Amino acid sequence: MSGENGYLSEPKGFATAAIHAFQDPEQWSSMAVVTPMVASTTFKQYGPGNFKEFEYGRSGNPNRDVLEKCLATLDNAKYGLCWSSGLGATMGIASLFKAGDHIICGDNLFAGTSCLFGKICTKLGLQISFVNESKIESAIKENTKLIWIESLTNPTLTVVDIPAIAAIAHKHNVLLAVDSTFVTCYFQRPIDLGADLVVHSLTKFMNGHTDVIMGVTITNNKDLYDQLKFLQNSMGIVPAPFDCYQVTRSIKTLALRMKQHMKNSLEVAKFLETHPKVEKVLHPGRPSHPQHELYKKLTSGCSGMVSFYIKNAALEQSQRFLTSLKVITLAHSLGGYHSLAALPSVMSHGAVPEDQRRVLNITHNLIRLSVGLEDIEDLINDLQQALEKVRILL
Ligand SMILES: *Cc1c(COP(=O)(O)O)cnc(C)c1O
Repeated sequence: MSGENGYLSEPKGFATAAIHAFQDPEQWSSMAVVTPMVASTTFKQYGPGNFKEFEYGRSGNPNRDVLEKCLATLDNAKYGLCWSSGLGATMGIASLFKAGDHIICGDNLFAGTSCLFGKICTKLGLQISFVNESKIESAIKENTKLIWIESLTNPTLTVVDIPAIAAIAHKHNVLLAVDSTFVTCYFQRPIDLGADLVVHSLTKFMNGHTDVIMGVTITNNKDLYDQLKFLQNSMGIVPAPFDCYQVTRSIKTLALRMKQHMKNSLEVAKFLETHPKVEKVLHPGRPSHPQHELYKKLTSGCSGMVSFYIKNAALEQSQRFLTSLKVITLAHSLGGYHSLAALPSVMSHGAVPEDQRRVLNITHNLIRLSVGLEDIEDLINDLQQALEKVRILL
């Protein structure tokens, strides 16, 4: 169903679930309204092997448990598991498979994910193919077990058609995993669109305060959940209770934050589109994005991600722009309340060979912004003054 601006309608009950789901104060003896922090690494048993709910901090912790259940609810799914990072969550999913199994990955994944699949999983005997999202079906083989895509790719913000790829996956009896870090469960629920597994790096918009590294896997499939829970414990890729406490707090404002990220990033994109020194702006929420209509069909809005090309800028001029920014911070990562800027050709994709970077349109004049929650006038003034410092031929 389409809501305002042709997007899907906003998820009903989302903010209420973020605040209340699995957090009834009556479940704690203290009746604390905020879920109490439990740092204990072990839990008393009534008799040997006879314990109440938790046994040992690696296998389960009350703060992790609340967060996992709440996050699953927000993704409109049954089961969530938290891992010590987004890549930890990815490693958990990769570990569902065995040597000789084949995994198809999108060809422009988050650099850490490409490295994990391409350099580590291959060493463990998994066969990995990196394939453009439009050519996935032709890459499916007898031993293909998993397709791994990102709902919005980094840094060129290409929209991936999850229902179309889910149909291909299921026709061939292959699982589909979607990394939805750039969009979040506030704007898109990949399980509803046909994915079997969802991953978020909670480090980004979901926690949104740039002070926790964590990941989550979400599924409706009990068998996958049981296997992943075994791996989470056995591989020891678990988050700290305090970090779970922090993320549980942060997601209470996810709905509010995402609305403001959307508003600010759209304003920034609009400003950049009219600037004479900007060649092209990439923002899936703007009609100028070639897949804007598809994006509106798959989501209820857009996050803070905007990429743009400075006209005729060589590396030096892009560096000049980035070091001239005063409010926006030059740094890795995204999704926090601080606005961040990055030069993907040097930073996230610095290790990608230049010819491959050219294929992906990741040139030295491509800037990626994660638009935060500052006042929009200050962000636009900052971009304006930094663009003034760039000396280029127009
Ligand atoms: C950051 C990120 C990851 C990895 O998450 P970490 O929490 O840093 O391990 C995976 N996918 C995407 C799209 C990301 O942006």
